[in-house]
Amino acid sequence: MTPLPGAAPIGDRIYPTLGQAGLDVRHYDLRLTVPRPGTLELSGEVTLTLAATRPLSAIALDYLGPAVQEVRWNGAVRAFALDRAAGKLRVTLPAPLRPGEAARLSVRYAGVAAQVPDALLPTGWQAVPGKGGAGGANYALSEPAGTRGFLPVNDHPSDPATFTVRVTVPAGYTAAASGLETGVADSPAGRTFTFEQAVPIPTYALAIHVNRFARVDSPPVPVGVGGAAVVRRDYFPAGLGSRETAVRAPYRRTGEVLEVLAGWFGPFPFAAHGSAIVESGVPALETATLNTMPVQSSNERVLVHETAHQWFGDRVVLADWSDVWLNEGFATYAELLWAQAQGEDGGAVVAGWYARLAGRPTRPLPATSAEELFDRTAYLRGALALQAVRAEVGDAAFRAWLRAYVTAFSGRPASTAGLLDLTRRELGARAEAALRLWAESPTLPPLPPTAP
Ligand SMILES: [Zn+2]
Repeated sequence: MTPLPGAAPIGDRIYPTLGQAGLDVRHYDLRLTVPRPGTLELSGEVTLTLAATRPLSAIALDYLGPAVQEVRWNGAVRAFALDRAAGKLRVTLPAPLRPGEAARLSVRYAGVAAQVPDALLPTGWQAVPGKGGAGGANYALSEPAGTRGFLPVNDHPSDPATFTVRVTVPAGYTAAASGLETGVADSPAGRTFTFEQAVPIPTYALAIHVNRFARVDSPPVPVGVGGAAVVRRDYFPAGLGSRETAVRAPYRRTGEVLEVLAGWFGPFPFAAHGSAIVESGVPALETATLNTMPVQSSNERVLVHETAHQWFGDRVVLADWSDVWLNEGFATYAELLWAQAQGEDGGAVVAGWYARLAGRPTRPLPATSAEELFDRTAYLRGALALQAVRAEVGDAAFRAWLRAYVTAFSGRPASTAGLLDLTRRELGARAEAALRLWAESPTLPPLPPTAP
């Protein structure tokens, strides 16, 4: 199928078909029903509040999910085309959507969620079948582009949006999602949990969990914008048995992690933070306000890493997936900041990163393929690039630079070029050159020094 006029994709260098150029989704209002946790069955109804940065004659959302039953445009039923091969739900508009106008697009769907294949693992809506007659669990694990497996979205990080999420589950289950819980209501359909994510986040960072959870609330932490209290809650699966104490232990330090990281990065950008623990062998993911943490990744280092992504990835968003090192390099660097705050030897951490890269093939920081997105270069060379800046300018200027980057790119797409520009403005030409060497050199630059 040829693209509809006015519905061209964003042009991502790694995922060229994702998103729609000129489309700005402001808000997703989602009702999701999960009738049998542990299976991929679901039904949904979502209303997108849309704006445009150029005239659009059609909307082409990313979608690979269950069968679509109905589409409405500003409340009126509208014809649609589901192009499974292209992964697009297309709606031709009765009149072009022009810049300055707002519109509502509603989609109702039901059936079985699709797993979205990617270079690393199947992404999107996950099902964990129950064991020994117990109920199962579900959760979203969507980086880089799995949300489209269960929700029609403009599935690109350069278009972050706010979310209202209402999840209806059978009695005995708990739902958790990004944002603040604003209501719990019972009906014949089950129990509905409502969440408000009032600060825009990328679609892949949307957390949704369904399980027989124990929710553990902790005292709020005054590290939000203007000293606001950040709500603290974690969700632990029932039935961890003898593993429970060990699994829960690292999360008791989440408040301290927030304080140490806010000391470097500036205020925590969201109203709540915590983790939801999953019993599955997947990687941890920085879902907004609620890290998705597998049992086997329940340790301080991973908790620090995913929590740092709340600033870098969830609030400062990517212009293009090729620059994912901006997420992973900063989150890996946070592991060093935490280690130093615990009195550990930062030089050993930096030397360890360097040793894992030395003698291997390397590459400049911007990735050129999906296979490179989450490789050692993105994480370790990305973190060493930040150490090169810190070594050049010292801790005080480095801290101011981190905060300037967060301020400049909160809710705005960041790029390697944008960070280099900001570095020259904030720190001068020598620091920019130090960063550029790590960003662009085809070989591995020398190990940057670490202050004692
Ligand atoms: Zn990461």
